[in-house]
Amino acid sequence: MKAIRLTRIGEPLEMADVPTPTPGPLDALVAVQAAGVCHSDVHYRAGASPAGLLPLTLGHEVAGTVAAVGDEVTGWAPGDRVCLHYLLTCGHCRYCDAGREQFCVQGAMIGKHRDGGYAEYIALPARSLFHLPEEIPFEHGAVLMCSSATSFHALRQARLSAGESVAVFGVGGLGISAVQLARAYGAGQVFAVDLQPNKLSLAERLGAVPVDASAGDPVAELKRLTGGRGVDVALELIGLPQTMEQAFKSLAIRGRAAIAGISNRSFEVAPYADLINREAEIIGVSDHLAQEIPLLLEWTRGGQLDLGAAVTETIPLEAGAVNQALDRLANFGETVRTVILP
Ligand SMILES: [Zn+2]
Ligand SMILES: [Zn+2]
Repeated sequence: MKAIRLTRIGEPLEMADVPTPTPGPLDALVAVQAAGVCHSDVHYRAGASPAGLLPLTLGHEVAGTVAAVGDEVTGWAPGDRVCLHYLLTCGHCRYCDAGREQFCVQGAMIGKHRDGGYAEYIALPARSLFHLPEEIPFEHGAVLMCSSATSFHALRQARLSAGESVAVFGVGGLGISAVQLARAYGAGQVFAVDLQPNKLSLAERLGAVPVDASAGDPVAELKRLTGGRGVDVALELIGLPQTMEQAFKSLAIRGRAAIAGISNRSFEVAPYADLINREAEIIGVSDHLAQEIPLLLEWTRGGQLDLGAAVTETIPLEAGAVNQALDRLANFGETVRTVILP
């Protein structure tokens, strides 16, 4: 089968002809129908975030149809429409038991620690399959499993409650979902901070108040828009120290900043003025939980979460097209989400 693989850190991905995987007794073989190109993949390719042993097939946002199942798998049959929970977990360690399975001691992620979905087929434990309703296209099912799920987890980590104000920093793959999910949650005002005019107008169409960070300090603008108070919840979905600092500084008293963008660079916190004096919180967001996926699928089927705006481009399973999509993400280009349709 065809697979697009990372063979050397810092180099473009390469097309390879590899054996179609054979599912183990508890596994399913899934024919990939859609695989999202994620900003995390930019980090794996660049070596900014360590991936597993190379060569490795990237791709962790995957939807498809069941092609075959192992002898001990029940409840799934060839032809079933599925989307894949990318975290493979043991189900019985202290973190799995506590419902924090993203920290599972044996946790592995498809497209990072083992071969992912930039391929014609993928084999994985059948317990990672979720039924994808007919009403949800494969490309939406794919991006749902990373960007939407992580946005949803970020809002839960931030303990958003109805009526609270939210600022979403970065209207990319995660931000498009975050704006809609915040509204589905019953948030009060939702603000969307970005530099790109097309992303700001998209956020506005989805019901957010756009805040153009190219026009001036977004912290001052958010304070102005909230009558000097600041926002209850800020989500940082970009991964830049500057926007993390802005997200934190834009908080109201007892506000929570949930950081999901990936960076290892430091950002500044003024302990008295910004943290202590406001009892503000900075909260890390790592992946998401399997238990969060059914409600996301339900909201997508019901239309509260419309991913039509999130998937802006589809490309074939070709190394050149995938590398170009990764390059655009690396440069924070205008494309919100590119999905590979093998
Ligand atoms: Zn992703
Ligand atoms: Zn575990």
